[in-house]
Amino acid sequence: MDAVSLPAVTLSGHFARDFPEMAIAWRAEDMPDPRLLVLNEPLATELGLDADFLRSAEGMGLLTGHRLPVDATPVAQAYAGHQFGWYAHRLGDGRALLLGEITHADGMPRDVHLKGSGRTPFARGGDGLAVVGPMLREYLISEGMHALGVATTRSLAVVATGRPVQRDTVLPGAVLTRVATSHVRVGSFQYAAARGDVGLVRRLADYAITRHYPATERAENPYLALFRSVVGAQASLVARWMLVGFVHGVMNTDNMTISGETIDYGPCAFMDAFDPAAVYSSIDETGRYAYRNQPVVAEWNLARLAESLMPLLHEDQETAIQLAVESLDDFRQQYSADWAAGMNRKLGFRPGLGDEVTSPLVEELLTLLRQGHVDYTSIFRSLGKAARGRPEPARQLIPDRTAFDDWAGRWRALNPDADAMDRVNPAYIPRNHLVEEALAAATGGDLEPLFRLMDAVTDPYNERPGLERYAMGAPDDFGAYRTFCGT
Ligand code: AMP
Ligand code: MG
Repeated sequence: MDAVSLPAVTLSGHFARDFPEMAIAWRAEDMPDPRLLVLNEPLATELGLDADFLRSAEGMGLLTGHRLPVDATPVAQAYAGHQFGWYAHRLGDGRALLLGEITHADGMPRDVHLKGSGRTPFARGGDGLAVVGPMLREYLISEGMHALGVATTRSLAVVATGRPVQRDTVLPGAVLTRVATSHVRVGSFQYAAARGDVGLVRRLADYAITRHYPATERAENPYLALFRSVVGAQASLVARWMLVGFVHGVMNTDNMTISGETIDYGPCAFMDAFDPAAVYSSIDETGRYAYRNQPVVAEWNLARLAESLMPLLHEDQETAIQLAVESLDDFRQQYSADWAAGMNRKLGFRPGLGDEVTSPLVEELLTLLRQGHVDYTSIFRSLGKAARGRPEPARQLIPDRTAFDDWAGRWRALNPDADAMDRVNPAYIPRNHLVEEALAAATGGDLEPLFRLMDAVTDPYNERPGLERYAMGAPDDFGAYRTFCGT
């Protein structure tokens, strides 16, 4: 490892220093021929990193963990987790490293993290590697989510390693540089709690409070306030997923953050035709993580967090359980309120309309969408045009025209706000067929389709001439979409 002087980059090692029980000092594997595929310049600027520097050999060394400031302490983090309902006591970063924390322009720290940087002591049977397609996929979808206003980890760069990686076929290797407000997960608390070390759980909770919910420190019961904050953040997050038609695909407790950011874009997908039972992941055979199950699963995961925090909530166990149950009850209420408010915005309802007016219209529309296999993103964008007196684009999407006309008449009588609708109903999302097309080209060496798609989805509400095909639903021959975890 060369110790080079980097231009004023400080990667502090707070987590590494404060949690030796949950962090193993480790280094990224060498890469034969690193090549920068994509760099997120606006994000680099927010982090105080110079884009030209990051494009240099030394900069790429920073992005891949090979040339770090001398005092940097990269670590693999330990965590546990329920995977598809089954508890695994030792998961951890099998192919990832936390390089350290860097200060964002907002004054708060961000984790800089690698995915695909080689085997760690948590790798179990895995090779510790990642390949170009899935890393670009995470980059594209996470940045698309950010542009949609959904809380998420960010993607700073993808570097091709030059190393061939054996999957079903041999594929080009890559490392993703990921940025997050932290990588503390529900599974991190499960890991701490399973060690039977209440002091460790308390320190982790204090760390989460400082990094994510500093106001709760002043609460009468800060740990209960922390739990309630996570419940609120996750209720809002999952409501946002549901409103944009996002299916995470692998909502294991190790893939759920304390911050409320979406994390670990593996087999995720955006729904094409509206279908509450939509499942894309090839390994989700029972549909545990289907679109409609996401709120229930989030609540289930939060119950696992409550169990881990139990000794901190109250010294009397009965009281602690009661407090946890009461707080968890807020999830449904907040989720429903957020979802309903979001749906009202999607339909352009003016403030002040009662639930008894809006809610039947929402339900009827969703029934029409489900029965007609209607493209979820296109219909809401088209309804903005209908609100302006041009119903044809929306009408064309719904097979039962009579039912639609009847519904639209009642909806338009409420004078929906078309401009407000266009601000919340995206024209462009990372559509499955476009993502696949762009990644296939990129894996073959042509990044242009990816950059064009990236341009569309990082400015999703601004409909532009020339981007028509990015706003269209999947072609009929695209078929049933399947995503894979073997990334
Ligand atoms: P994920 O489903 O991507 O959240 O990963 C679940 C667990 O498997 C985590 O502990 C990962 O670090 C680990 N993992 C996934 N892929 C690999 C790989 N290729 N090599 C080593 N560990 C991996
Ligand atoms: Mg994960």
